[in-house]
Amino acid sequence: MNITQWDIPNDRQARVKAINYWFAQDDKSEKQSLSADFQGGRTRGLEKLNAVNGEAYGKTRNFTDGAVTHLSPYFRHGCISLPEAVEKVRTQFGQSAEKLLNEFAWREYWRTVWYAHGDAIMVDMQPPQVVLAYGDLPTDLQTASTGLPCIDHFASQLLEEGYLHNHARMWLAAYTVHWRHTDWQQGAQWMHDQLLDGDYASNHLSWQWVSSTFSRKPYFFNQENLAKYTKNKHCDSCEEKCPFRDSYTNLEQQLFKPSQQLAREHIPIEQPHASSELGDKILVWIHDEMLNNEHDLLQLTHEKVFIFDPYFYQDWSINRLHFIADCLIEMPNVTVWIGQTSAVFKHLKTQHIITQDTPNQQLKQLVAEYPVTWQPEQKVCTNTFTSEQITSFSKFWKVASHDFIGASNKKKMIRHRG
Ligand SMILES: Cc1cc2nc3c(=O)[nH]c(=O)nc-3n(C[C@H](O)[C@H](O)[C@H](O)COP(=O)(O)OP(=O)(O)OC[C@H]3O[C@@H](n4cnc5c(N)ncnc54)[C@H](O)[C@@H]3O)c2cc1C
Repeated sequence: MNITQWDIPNDRQARVKAINYWFAQDDKSEKQSLSADFQGGRTRGLEKLNAVNGEAYGKTRNFTDGAVTHLSPYFRHGCISLPEAVEKVRTQFGQSAEKLLNEFAWREYWRTVWYAHGDAIMVDMQPPQVVLAYGDLPTDLQTASTGLPCIDHFASQLLEEGYLHNHARMWLAAYTVHWRHTDWQQGAQWMHDQLLDGDYASNHLSWQWVSSTFSRKPYFFNQENLAKYTKNKHCDSCEEKCPFRDSYTNLEQQLFKPSQQLAREHIPIEQPHASSELGDKILVWIHDEMLNNEHDLLQLTHEKVFIFDPYFYQDWSINRLHFIADCLIEMPNVTVWIGQTSAVFKHLKTQHIITQDTPNQQLKQLVAEYPVTWQPEQKVCTNTFTSEQITSFSKFWKVASHDFIGASNKKKMIRHRG
């Protein structure tokens, strides 16, 4: 494919049209249209951050209509940073936002695990605790036509909107792996590619947590749980034979056998080479985790580029590409290219690249032939973690809670509980 420079239209409709022209591959993209509520960019990300209700979140977050934040696509693409969100929520809500701060920490936890283990997170981190089947992802799931109103609702929401509530993600993943005996990697890849916030750390490690390859037991649910947290939205009118309607004890017996399986082989991590000697032509590579018009690297005088690489993004949903284009419109000093990453850098006679560090080895591979300066990303935690401290979230939280909650709030919380 040839490379092309793309002047992204300011008008959103024109942008949507252009993205469809460049990237729409099949009829499934026709169903997609990124809602204005999820317009990409820092401006909308900050609006959402300002609208957070830290107190209501703690009380209602498990309900599908609860006061959740919808911040994840903005974190994922770097439009807003986790440290600034923590600071804002902590200052505004103090101890009443403990639950939200704790949930924010999950994002940093999974990412810390990704940095530590690299591509090993893409395969079983540990032997599963129960026997898992590794079947193909069923077509009826991919087309949201299983016949179960709840599951089909979650699957179509995923396909059409690209956003799912955390509980819906858990139910959908558990159904896929434990009821439909699907290889969790296939389920995880499918969900990742459809989500606006698709992120290998939070996504694949959550699928592993559901599957029991990175947790002490598999996650599953029953009809009572789903009915409660959806407020009977799907169950009231459901006439299907419900596979979830049973006690936890019976479902556990029906679904699981203890496992003696060995973990699958880990993919070796290939590190990109880095050079201390900067060549003449230095470019700032804006990748998909740093779409923020206030990013530090935008202050540099070097040319800045973002590349819509069709090979890299071919499986991503059209909605997500719209989201990225929205973000880029707020970054006028970034030149946008369409084409293979290496071909664009070659065309620009690049000798050295500066960009933000990422645990995503696939992203790193795109620039593996160049010397790269990887600027560390912003984190909430100032500590480095030992491998033991990241074996579970609770161990991580013991160390991290100080940075997330703040020393004074932490003392108040302990007093309050005591
Ligand atoms: C199977 C499965 C797949 C998932 N895939 C992704 C993914 O690809 N990308 C992604 O960002 N999150 C993923 N999550 C985590 C979580 O579901 C989403 O971050 C959250 O639902 C996003 O919606 P929100 O911003 O309204 O969340 P809120 O409930 O409002 O939470 C606020 C923020 O806290 C963080 N957060 C909350 N819960 C989690 C969690 N369990 N893990 C990590 N971070 C969390 C997110 O950054 C989120 O934006 C997945 C969870 C499961 C069970």
